[in-house]
Amino acid sequence: MRKQRRKRAKKGEPQRITKAVTHIRLAETNPGKLTALDQLAHVFLPLVQQYVTLFCTEEPPDKFRDALFPTPLSERWHRVAIQQAAGIAQSWRTNREQAYQDYVEDLQEYREQEAEGTLDEGTKEPAWCEWDVPTLRQTCIQANVNVVKLEVSEDSSFDYWLKISALDFRKQLLVPVKLSGYHKEALTDPKTNKHRPINSSVQLNKREDGWWLTLSYDEVVTVQSEPDAQVIGIDVGIANFLTTSDGRHYGTFHGKLRERQKRDREKRRRKGKLRACLKKKGVEQLPSTSSNSGQRLIRHVRQEINRAVNVCFNEHPDVQIAYEQLSVATMKHKARAMNAYMRASNLAHLPKQIAWNAAKRGVRATKVKSAYSSQACSVCHYTDRKNRPDQQTFCCIICQFTTHADRNASVNIAARLHDEELRACGSRVEVKALLLSRHEQWKQQCSLVVVQAPVQLGLWASSPASTDVG
Ligand SMILES: [Zn+2]
Repeated sequence: MRKQRRKRAKKGEPQRITKAVTHIRLAETNPGKLTALDQLAHVFLPLVQQYVTLFCTEEPPDKFRDALFPTPLSERWHRVAIQQAAGIAQSWRTNREQAYQDYVEDLQEYREQEAEGTLDEGTKEPAWCEWDVPTLRQTCIQANVNVVKLEVSEDSSFDYWLKISALDFRKQLLVPVKLSGYHKEALTDPKTNKHRPINSSVQLNKREDGWWLTLSYDEVVTVQSEPDAQVIGIDVGIANFLTTSDGRHYGTFHGKLRERQKRDREKRRRKGKLRACLKKKGVEQLPSTSSNSGQRLIRHVRQEINRAVNVCFNEHPDVQIAYEQLSVATMKHKARAMNAYMRASNLAHLPKQIAWNAAKRGVRATKVKSAYSSQACSVCHYTDRKNRPDQQTFCCIICQFTTHADRNASVNIAARLHDEELRACGSRVEVKALLLSRHEQWKQQCSLVVVQAPVQLGLWASSPASTDVG
């Protein structure tokens, strides 16, 4: 169920991108109205959850599915719930499928190494752990114009009115919206100085401190990259958020961010202990283990990632970008030091941010396969885990090419942009076979040269690793 690869955007081709304007506070001028919104959410969310479970376990997600579960909500609200659930379930299914595919390939690789007798000591057989169905924890309503209308306010000090169909069919909630200067600027087109047309779908979120609105608008950006523009490969990771094939690094999770993460983990551990202790003593109201500082930390890491990506694009004008299609297995490999949650929320954020920055700047950016990009030698194509003596270093055991590990990976990634043969590979096993056949070609080409320089002949003949090639 993999998503079909989108056609690569050509120069001059318009691309529609949707931009969000977030954090618009719903004013508490009339608290009764927001209480009515609370009541609506109270009925809406459990209904969405029912459909999420249905679409994840029993049926394929279908935005237009007939209503199944009873609800006091209107038919229009019911439709909105089904649509939102279908979106959540679809993305859950896609991610689960991708993870399962990764697991199957990991297992294949494991079996292969087992048969060859090349397994590293202590390597465990990959195991599949079935995913839980997603649970909705935060209040989020993705509403369309059938249930929530945004109207310009002509006769008040507010900018808009949100007209929300209430739980009680006959009533409509009128919630005033006041935009800050920052929001107004974001919603004004700097070229024409006019209001941008706002999309009719809106998102409502409830947080601890009240209700928030997200608006969005579409912008058309034209791809500016020339088809033969220089290709810059980007490798993403933890030690360096981004490493480019011209050898520059941007951002890091080490240092301050890592210290904060350690402190946060320690705090959660202590809270957990306290909970366990109180539970033993029969205390019923237990302190929560979810951590605000953890949420803040995640936001902070994301800001750092956004900044790194921004600087990277600023320093590389007039290029086109190749970046990794990050699989769960690659993320796991790249982020052993992070806990599962950070891993999921942050590493996956990097490619998204690259795609987004490229789109809004009209830079062509293409995802390429990440399989073996960190183990393959960018000079002789020899592919082996042993080429990585440590996390930071790449040192080819055949041709001795040595460089920063992330730099070697980003050079591989850049080369994969126009590599149709590699693109056609269906699995990791095929990628590895292709790389090793290229290594064989490289050896043959080199032996022609080496005829004049017999001193170097021993280079691979004596290498123990060359026996398991081909
Ligand atoms: Zn090499």
